[in-house]
Amino acid sequence: SNTLNIIGGGMAGSEAAWQAANLGVNVTIHEMRPKVGTFAHRTGNLGEMVCSNSFRSDDDEQNAVGLLHWEMRAAGGLIMATADKHALPAGGALAVDRDPFAQSVTATLQDHPNITISYDEITTLPEDGHWIVATGPLTSGNLASSIADATGQDALAFFDAIAPIIYFDTINMEKAWFQSRYDKGDTEEERTAYLNCPMDRDTYEAFIDALLAADKTEFKPGETAGYFDGCLPIEVMAERGRETLRFGPMKPVGLTNPHQPDVKAHAIVQLRRDNALGTLFNIVGFQTKMKYGAQKEVLRMIPGLEEAEFARLGGVHRNTFINSPTLLDNQMRLRSRPHLRFAGQITGVEGYVESAAMGLLAGRFAAAEILGKPVTTPPPETAMGALVTHITGGADAKTFQPMNVNFGLFPPVDAKGGRKNRKTRYKIYTDRAKAAWTSWLDGPRLDAA
Ligand code: FAD
Repeated sequence: SNTLNIIGGGMAGSEAAWQAANLGVNVTIHEMRPKVGTFAHRTGNLGEMVCSNSFRSDDDEQNAVGLLHWEMRAAGGLIMATADKHALPAGGALAVDRDPFAQSVTATLQDHPNITISYDEITTLPEDGHWIVATGPLTSGNLASSIADATGQDALAFFDAIAPIIYFDTINMEKAWFQSRYDKGDTEEERTAYLNCPMDRDTYEAFIDALLAADKTEFKPGETAGYFDGCLPIEVMAERGRETLRFGPMKPVGLTNPHQPDVKAHAIVQLRRDNALGTLFNIVGFQTKMKYGAQKEVLRMIPGLEEAEFARLGGVHRNTFINSPTLLDNQMRLRSRPHLRFAGQITGVEGYVESAAMGLLAGRFAAAEILGKPVTTPPPETAMGALVTHITGGADAKTFQPMNVNFGLFPPVDAKGGRKNRKTRYKIYTDRAKAAWTSWLDGPRLDAA
């Protein structure tokens, strides 16, 4: 049949379905929730965000993830349109109100005339038809073993850590204050999107000691803790050096404490609003694998958080992904079984935005194939192209690790002629990308009669 089947209605599966359905293809989404859950999802909604509520920087001139936002918007992406509809002030970042966001993604897909949603777990890889596997970092165990059988290689297990979420009304505002770093933002709301907790030197040193001494979740034998650098647990950062946190998530710059305007803080912990109501705040960059008891004790050493109550503690999570550089072709098909495409985090990209982006591409590739229309891989000058090129061949297969989009994946703009300053260089990258993406979108027209 000519139906496109998509396994998993997360960031990638939802976007893939939307793209293909809008090109006129009939799509069935197979989503195992709410029948079968994962440890991180809480609802049966499609497009549920499992941890942070942020799509990160929305700066499409100086930031690669902001550029990816731009490209997805230009392609009529569902995830971006819905995120824009439910955006929360976050001073330069695109944060969203997670429940209305996911409800809206679900309703939009449900209402689409070309889309059917089937709430079932797919336990083995199908033998024929058109399929996209977008089952994410928490792919169910049955399907994961079927994938391992098909690829001839074990999907690698890898761990990330979750940042804790705190109830606002348990934060001591006589110590903490609202302010975005460097007062960034166009509105008063954006300029006050963060909560700050200052530390003097003694408190900082005691905090580092406590972090180093805290009980942590140990890895099972054979599991490697290949941390992705953008997502290091705070205790791992502390192990790398006592000052690492002060130059990372706790850097005391661009902020002025109104309670003590003359005192320069030694370190500052930032919290970001986690929901529209402003009742929940997550501690920025504080992923952790400390055990729950230890976590509460250590985090309550932070001035202002002495009485903090936690809506959610940090934790360790599994991340399932395949060795895409050896397994996938440049249209994201499994080389050995090309009726199967892979998309999303399972392909070895990292994050909501990157996963949705790879869903967008997979959906378009699959639609073109079903409709018998030509389609090319986007050029590596685009954020989309840079990312897909990296995972399907650019990356070293032997050391392949999940990847965020970044300018390092793009063909360099100043290979000859000396290095321009960073701001200028990034602007050249993003201008070049936008032009290339626009012409790719205008390329062989999938929706032309
Ligand atoms: P998902 O969004 O997870 O969607 C996969 C879907 O497939 C799920 O709905 C699942 O229920 C379904 N499914 C799985 N197996 C089957 C099956 N056999 N049959 C049918 N359906 C199935 N990214 C960030 O950008 N920021 C963060 O803060 C962040 N924190 C994270 C914390 C945790 C605990 C985890 C696990 C991941 C985190 N990530 C974060 C990564 C983020 O979850 C992914 O980048 C993104 O959700 C991946 O999109 P996806 O569509 O590939 O997978």
